[in-house]
Amino acid sequence: MENANNESSRRHFLRKFSYGVAMAGLAPVAEATASMVTSTTKTMAEKKIGWAIVGLGKFATQQIIPAFPNCKKSKLVALVSGSLEKARKIADENGINPKNIYNYQNFDDIKNNPEVDVVYIILPNSMHAEYTVRASKAGKHVMSEKPMATSVEDCEKMIDACKKAGKKLMIAYRAQYEPFNLKSIEMIKGGKIGKLRFLTSDHGRLLKPEQPEDKWRADKQMAGGGSLMDIGIYSLNAMRYLTGEEPVEINAMIYSDPNDPRFKEVEETVAFQLRFPSGVLANCSSSYGYEGVKRFQAFGSKGSLILDPATDYYEHNLELKLEDGTKKEKIQEGNQFAAEIDHLSECIMENKTPKTPGEEGLRDIKYMMAIYEAAKKGKPVKV
Ligand code: NDP
Repeated sequence: MENANNESSRRHFLRKFSYGVAMAGLAPVAEATASMVTSTTKTMAEKKIGWAIVGLGKFATQQIIPAFPNCKKSKLVALVSGSLEKARKIADENGINPKNIYNYQNFDDIKNNPEVDVVYIILPNSMHAEYTVRASKAGKHVMSEKPMATSVEDCEKMIDACKKAGKKLMIAYRAQYEPFNLKSIEMIKGGKIGKLRFLTSDHGRLLKPEQPEDKWRADKQMAGGGSLMDIGIYSLNAMRYLTGEEPVEINAMIYSDPNDPRFKEVEETVAFQLRFPSGVLANCSSSYGYEGVKRFQAFGSKGSLILDPATDYYEHNLELKLEDGTKKEKIQEGNQFAAEIDHLSECIMENKTPKTPGEEGLRDIKYMMAIYEAAKKGKPVKV
């Protein structure tokens, strides 16, 4: 499709251009120009979008950086880190020019680096807003990790800054680029389980503040909240992409063990319910107190669909329970990280809006704020 479009616009351009020069009696020049245009088109098609990663923590180093060799339209060209030693080592391992290493102080100099098209922010949640604004001011497109930010105001600042700079902003909702999740959406939409009536989703993992990646997660100012902001967001987002609807009412309860020092600032377990305009209801949970759960289930008039795990990095298990028995769906696992990275690169190349733009991240932050509000008030909140 992309090639067909390129080819037809190239032909259109050549036709227009040849017509103009022929009219001026310059046909040989038109021939030479045609060959120049062909080679320019080829170079454009082969060009990969250059990415910089900000924050070389667990997720960046263990999942995102290793995904770049699987990308077709994207290449990793720069690193931003507080640790020069770590950045040098990663640059060396990944063929990145050491001159493309930045720290948090000289980050803004990235504006002078034409190799960098996109900045991918993989910092603690409260830092996403500052670095999105700085990256867009430096003239770069932005991918921000989830949750988009720790407040509605910060999300709006991020959207405004990228709009003002004329740059794209995408939130890294990897599940929306992952084949089993996409298949689940297609099956529900296609009526495989009949009329959708109810959904459930749970995400849990133990919080271990002794690990560097969980230290800031136990800090309310840096994380914005507890299990809900970190992993409950997967349940919430899944309920929205599986129904294709926005909730109209939210109810919630929260419990944190008062004797557990991990939950001094951030919440442990959240149970929340969503009502959608079609009448579909959803029941979700997130917790830092139970381990290894990342699943959803959709119930319809003809049966149910279960994806468990649903939001793992590399393993998915999709089952359909219909009247004639349970059937395991066999589809190919895909690299969701490479798919989402290439999606933004494609959007930049073809000037399209990403499927998960800043507005998508903002919606989830608003709903999560409503979840906290409902739990605090002890009654449902209209959204
Ligand atoms: P880590 O703590 O492992 O990484 C964060 C990195 O940010 C650090 O290693 C550090 O990198 C940098 N940093 C800069 N300032 C600070 C600071 N004050 N405190 C701590 N780190 C700082 O966290 P994760 O990699 O687990 O998470 C990072 C982001 O990615 C979060 O927003 C998280 O929600 C998201 N994430 C998304 C996942 C997904 O599946 N989409 C999965 C896991 C995380 P350096 O030393 O290079 O400066």
